[in-house]
Amino acid sequence: MKKTIFVTGGAGFIGSALIRFLINETDNIVVNIDKLTYAGNLDSLKSVENNTRYNFENIDIVDQKSIDNLFRRYQPDFIMHLAAESHVDRSIDGPSDFIQTNIVGTFSLLEAARLYLKNIDAAKRSKFRFHHISTDEVYGDLEPTGFFTEESPYKPSSPYSASKASSDHLVRSWHRTYGLPVVITNCSNNYGPYHFPEKLIPAMILNALDGKSLTIYGDGSQIRDWLYVEDHAIALYTVLVKGKIGETYNIGGSNEKKNIEVVNLICDLLESLASKNQFSLASGGEGFKSLIKYVDDRPGHDLRYAIDASKIQKELGWTPKETFETGIKKTVEWYLDNKMWYSKIKDGFYKRKTQNT
Ligand code: NAD
Repeated sequence: MKKTIFVTGGAGFIGSALIRFLINETDNIVVNIDKLTYAGNLDSLKSVENNTRYNFENIDIVDQKSIDNLFRRYQPDFIMHLAAESHVDRSIDGPSDFIQTNIVGTFSLLEAARLYLKNIDAAKRSKFRFHHISTDEVYGDLEPTGFFTEESPYKPSSPYSASKASSDHLVRSWHRTYGLPVVITNCSNNYGPYHFPEKLIPAMILNALDGKSLTIYGDGSQIRDWLYVEDHAIALYTVLVKGKIGETYNIGGSNEKKNIEVVNLICDLLESLASKNQFSLASGGEGFKSLIKYVDDRPGHDLRYAIDASKIQKELGWTPKETFETGIKKTVEWYLDNKMWYSKIKDGFYKRKTQNT
């Protein structure tokens, strides 16, 4: 049966992939709740915007009165909460928006959901789920060996990861204290189409094509576990419909790569996929790797993240479809084919900041 799903932050990178999946692959009704910050981009939803099952509400999640109204109007079955300030460098430059959106905004959604559940019938209440989408960065960083599990202690390093850790704690406590039916997912680094160009992978692709420096923090030996965004969207829906209330599921791609390895792979792919003209214009014929430039490391930079995703695999049967090699090729091809999408951002239509994860 058709369900109505609230997706907060649906104009962002992961939220838009999730909404494209929900509209194209399920028969659910979607309400995208998004304030449209610099990171929100409705162009990422062009392929579904005219679908009658898609609705858009331009609302700040901190504004609980407006959220209460949406709950009354749409009577949702589920909420998938992705809206957040998500860029670590921005959180170091100015943490205030991170506290507001990631902590206060999550609090306001939890309160709105709690109020809504008091006023709906028991059958609908028993099926409701509040799905909080979070990050593996709440666990801090790892030594060269070992993995984050759902039992790993919280040890966030940046204002971004501390604000996400706070929101995870709030969500868990609303379950323990008020019995709100919640599920939480903590995911590793995502990459793929429609990724805002301040993040490592799109920044490297677009800077290389522009012949600009490919700046690497420190020596580039930081390790991240990469997941293709469309695999993440499927994992999120799997947890929403099959996950056990009160549980946390880690989501990861089992694709550990050093940042410098990622950049080298992008350079190799661009050399084979970009046109001869793009190649010689961008790199002066010397190859894209000649653009790599090492800069001082970021303060508090975590050395290694790696996810043990065996719980979601064993209990819910989800595994990623893409390897890093297949996913990164699709991603580079997408950026080469979708200049229209990113040129608006590059031309300053959306505010572009520095690169990196
Ligand atoms: P994003 O920055 O691309 O998108 C965030 C979206 O939230 C934007 O559309 C923005 O307009 C919206 N938003 C911001 N503040 C808002 C507010 N106050 N009210 C309503 N909307 C608001 O982020 P993303 O990369 O798509 O990440 C989505 C979620 O997934 C975040 O919660 C993030 O912490 C989590 N996450 C991201 C990654 C990753 O690699 N990108 C990995 C794990 C978890």
